[in-house]
Amino acid sequence: MEPGQNKSNLKVNKGVEQPPSVHPDSVRRFRDIKKPKLSAGEYVSGILSGNRTVLSQAITLIESQRQDHHETAQDIVARILPHTGKSIRIGITGVPGVGKSSFIEAIGGFITGKGHKLAVLAVDPSSERTKGSILGDKTRMETLSADPNAFIRPSPSAGSLGGVARKTRESMLLCEAAGFDVIFIETVGVGQSETTVHSMVDFFLLLMLAGAGDELQGIKRGIMEMADLVAITKSDGSNLIPSQRARAEYRNALHLFPPALSGWTPDVITVSALEKTGLDSLWEYIQKYFELTRANGFMAKNRMDQARAWMYETIRARLMENFLGDKGVLANIKIIEDKVLSGEMSAYAGARELLDKYYTGKKSLPEPKD
Ligand code: GDP
Repeated sequence: MEPGQNKSNLKVNKGVEQPPSVHPDSVRRFRDIKKPKLSAGEYVSGILSGNRTVLSQAITLIESQRQDHHETAQDIVARILPHTGKSIRIGITGVPGVGKSSFIEAIGGFITGKGHKLAVLAVDPSSERTKGSILGDKTRMETLSADPNAFIRPSPSAGSLGGVARKTRESMLLCEAAGFDVIFIETVGVGQSETTVHSMVDFFLLLMLAGAGDELQGIKRGIMEMADLVAITKSDGSNLIPSQRARAEYRNALHLFPPALSGWTPDVITVSALEKTGLDSLWEYIQKYFELTRANGFMAKNRMDQARAWMYETIRARLMENFLGDKGVLANIKIIEDKVLSGEMSAYAGARELLDKYYTGKKSLPEPKD
């Protein structure tokens, strides 16, 4: 019944109209943020012309949880793909306090000083737990932030390591399309995030401190093994001698590892962000690495291997996400898990039953071959 047709004796007077609690301009602005501002094509041409604002906005779309943002972002990534791959991709890791930000600030300035365009991205899955990013605080790298040839983007916040890594990887592609020819991807972690970053870069740099035991530095053998170069940081003042000693020790340790597939022999150098020493030597190592791996085909092969691995990893993650969101699975997963834990059901049988629930109505799951 329409309001005017009300035959009841009760009459409702129209109240005094209240002004909106939020200024309409703010609402408009808010809507602007929520909606992708440009079309995918406009983002693409902005990125290709090196427009940093458009690049930043496109990265924001990549990081967004919203479905429409996600679709625009994927469209952008697909369109810029032919313009990617021309940079050198360098992973940098080291425990908090190793001097990572100071080092990146110093080497970053050195690299842009040589006429390169540098993008610094990060993978920091810790933000989920700590509700704050270890890598993302604003006071870091002030000089580099103001450098017109550097682009610094903190880690995508919140999310699983896989999710954060995907976003960083796609952001890296956008940066390449925008003309950045050197990409740094930094991380700090205790193993997993280093492995993830290693799987998206060409060259992996491990920063270490002299005098701190390996355990203190959270350095696992596997991480040392991934390193193409180890740099002992803060090699200045009274720390110089211990740094040189550490260099010799780490060199010996590196010799124990099997030769790398790249044909490259990892080495250890000393650097100081404070005194800006060791930077030229580090840059020379990087040049040599890329000369070698471009010539012997390792770089191209490694990138292909990485792309293949990312494709399968994405499939795995999407299938798992779909599986865990399935109604039949959700209704049974806890019960079956408890049965497996109490020994009432084998892990295999539990998995089989849940997969059967998942595949009910879907194409049945073929038996594994092994
Ligand atoms: P991060 O946590 O790894 O990013 O480390 P920071 O770059 O924030 O540095 C941690 C501390 O080490 C700071 O107090 C810096 O001043 C100091 N530091 C960084 N680089 C150097 C260096 O080259 N020499 C010396 N002596 N101190 C440094």
